[in-house]
Amino acid sequence: VHAETLEDRCQVAAYACQRRTPLAHKNQLLTEALETVAEEALFRGSEGRGLAFSRAASVLKSFPWTVRSVKDLSSLPGIGEHSRKIIQEVLEDGASAEVENVRQSERYQTMKNFKKIFGVGVKTAGRWYQEGLRTISDLQAHHAKLNSAQQVGLLHYRDLNSPVKRSEAEAIVQVVQKAVDQFLPGASVILTGGFRRGKQTGHDVDLLITHPTEGQEMGLLSKVVSWLDSQGFMLYHSTHRNSFQPLEDEELSVSATTMDRFDRCFSIFCLSSMTEEPGCELKGSGGAHHRKAVRVDLVVTPYSQFSFALLGWTGSKNFERDLRRFSKYEKKMVLNSHTLYHTEKKIFLSAASEEEIFQHLGLDFISPEQRNA
Ligand code: ATP
Ligand code: MN
Ligand code: MN
Repeated sequence: VHAETLEDRCQVAAYACQRRTPLAHKNQLLTEALETVAEEALFRGSEGRGLAFSRAASVLKSFPWTVRSVKDLSSLPGIGEHSRKIIQEVLEDGASAEVENVRQSERYQTMKNFKKIFGVGVKTAGRWYQEGLRTISDLQAHHAKLNSAQQVGLLHYRDLNSPVKRSEAEAIVQVVQKAVDQFLPGASVILTGGFRRGKQTGHDVDLLITHPTEGQEMGLLSKVVSWLDSQGFMLYHSTHRNSFQPLEDEELSVSATTMDRFDRCFSIFCLSSMTEEPGCELKGSGGAHHRKAVRVDLVVTPYSQFSFALLGWTGSKNFERDLRRFSKYEKKMVLNSHTLYHTEKKIFLSAASEEEIFQHLGLDFISPEQRNA
């Protein structure tokens, strides 16, 4: 008997990975307010408070109606007292005094601007603020110490803070595919991150690279990056050998070598819209070249881990966080971008697709477009 009531359908699940969260939702004013105080909490180092506000915003994003009164919140999980108070102020007055204070505060605005520099996190931004620095030009005037990433970040501040278009992301996929084809025919380049969730713009381009023959991908990333660099496509890159260990537990006899091939590169590409393909070298004298610096994350994954990497790099961050929490607390499993481990059975669960991972976890499949938690 199909006895689903209206009330059942209004029920919003506790974990983001149990909910469908579209890109466009009906509570923008409220989620923006909550995300502002979440960000402010993180700026102050209050991770717990930041997470609580961020969760409350995420829940509202999955709510299929516009919240009109605090009474509407009774069916919603994870909305604490403080979030409720902010929601109430927005509903009653059109804005929350607390949120408006944050938005206007010098500290919040300064931290936000400093954090927009590639390579600058909360710690660095906070230190500069403490030292009395307030603007980007203050950094130069006061000779603030910048590491090499931050220097490039400052140099391309404008470009890196203007949204990356889908067409730009696709152009970068083409270039990386071309590079990959030279060293490893048959390897694929897959666009993931926010674009895979259906966003039309992003802050960066997230790419996964894999080859159907396990092990073939070894050593590929450094060759690809060197070639891209030599062709003038790269303004900055920082490559990390995988330091992934499946579990701290020593007794697990998993050969380190099978898990040791997950390389990634945080980079800044130079995209040129005039030439056939992006690149920074001046090619002939034909007119103006429009160049743009674009953040790109490159991740190479062995085929056996591809589904986990795809799920892990598609996001959103709230969705990923709840996938891991759900696995741990509801299923006694450990999920990461490499594997799924059952802590009681002491076995790794393999998966050839994202669908299989959801199945292992006993979750309904949520399509990437519905993971905008
Ligand atoms: P945007 O459009 O702003 O780029 P996004 O959802 O693509 O949004 P990203 O910061 O690019 O945001 O991250 C995409 C996903 O990749 C995140 O959900 C996160 O799970 C994963 N991710 C990002 N950085 C790392 C990292 N250093 N290690 C592992 N996973 C990461
Ligand atoms: Mn991204
Ligand atoms: Mn990214």
